[in-house]
Amino acid sequence: MIISQKQLAHFSTLKTPFYFYDITLLEKTLDSLTSEAKKYGYSLHYAFKANVNDRVLNTIRKYGMGADCVSGNEVQKAIDMGFPANEVVFAGVGKSDDEIIAALNNDIFCFNCESVQEMEVIDEIANRLNKKVNIAVRINPNVDANTHKHISTGLKENKFGVKMEEMESVVDCVKASKTLSLVGIHFHIGSQITDLTSYKNLCVRVNQIQDWFESRHVKIEVVNVGGGLGIDYYNPESNDVADFKQYFAIFNEFLQLRSGQQVHFELGRSVVAQCGSLISRVLFVKKGENTSFMILDAGMTELIRPMLYQAYHKINNLTTTAKEIDTYDVVGPICESTDTFAKALELPISKRGDIIEIKSAGAYGEVMASNYNLKTLHSAIYSDEIK
Ligand SMILES: *Cc1c(COP(=O)(O)O)cnc(C)c1O
Repeated sequence: MIISQKQLAHFSTLKTPFYFYDITLLEKTLDSLTSEAKKYGYSLHYAFKANVNDRVLNTIRKYGMGADCVSGNEVQKAIDMGFPANEVVFAGVGKSDDEIIAALNNDIFCFNCESVQEMEVIDEIANRLNKKVNIAVRINPNVDANTHKHISTGLKENKFGVKMEEMESVVDCVKASKTLSLVGIHFHIGSQITDLTSYKNLCVRVNQIQDWFESRHVKIEVVNVGGGLGIDYYNPESNDVADFKQYFAIFNEFLQLRSGQQVHFELGRSVVAQCGSLISRVLFVKKGENTSFMILDAGMTELIRPMLYQAYHKINNLTTTAKEIDTYDVVGPICESTDTFAKALELPISKRGDIIEIKSAGAYGEVMASNYNLKTLHSAIYSDEIK
């Protein structure tokens, strides 16, 4: 996404900070995603937790994606936004009784279960409500996603999923239950995965796990390989759509499917990250020890990724055309030293009032905004509103 002069002129009339969404880029991304998946007949679910902005969700829904939810409220949001219940899946290590009841009453497609205890509780509640339930067992495949340790989920030490050593009790639990049917196996090894050999390794593990189920005569209909495809935070202008072609080709090449099996994907970041920017203003510039502090009106309350997992976001000063550069620590106004977007970043000489764009913030940005310090985040702006 590249901000036009017209968009910048419009931003200048608005209060900051706010999120800006480029709907055209979102559509371009969805075009590429859905056409590449279609080649292999793969089913797509959008991971709601990446972004639940209504305009964004409406656009995604138009492309026929299902919903991957990790809380009861996300399930409800998906239903309210017109995602068909039979295309909604519900994952998460800690589903509360109320969330389970609501999802059962909404007749969602499938619960992605993360422990035997959870399966027993779902069974008990479903019995009470007289419901039948599809479940997929989320398996921890012990595959390294080669990503930041805070967003790695498929290793033995992570809290997610059921270990293979416990799979016998999963099968026993389903056999003993009158309500549960095991329709699928589910995996999600992490996020911002750029080393695609991690996905090849996942496929190899899935093939072994499929053999295990086959040897126990358990028929699996759905193989859900999760999401996690990374995006290019360093070159967001020149590389604005993730390489879905290469991504799906890996699964097509390495996954050994049994006849009739469906493959499901749950993508979040790669769908929405590049279409969103956080727009902010420079409040003050002050001299520090070795750099200058560029103090923005946006902070960790609007975009916490840099503070939460040392994430890099490209930062542009949209206002200035100055040739001279200075070295800045780009910081927010929040009363925490960790409220820093970037350290020792070279940017054109910047001054109070300049408009700053923090790029690739469409995923895990607005959804993680908080009310800390009682800060105000202004309503989002959309590219198609600016004529
Ligand atoms: C977060 C999550 C996803 C989406 O991950 P991305 O990295 O945003 O693609 C998919 N599946 C599950 C179970 C998740 O928790």
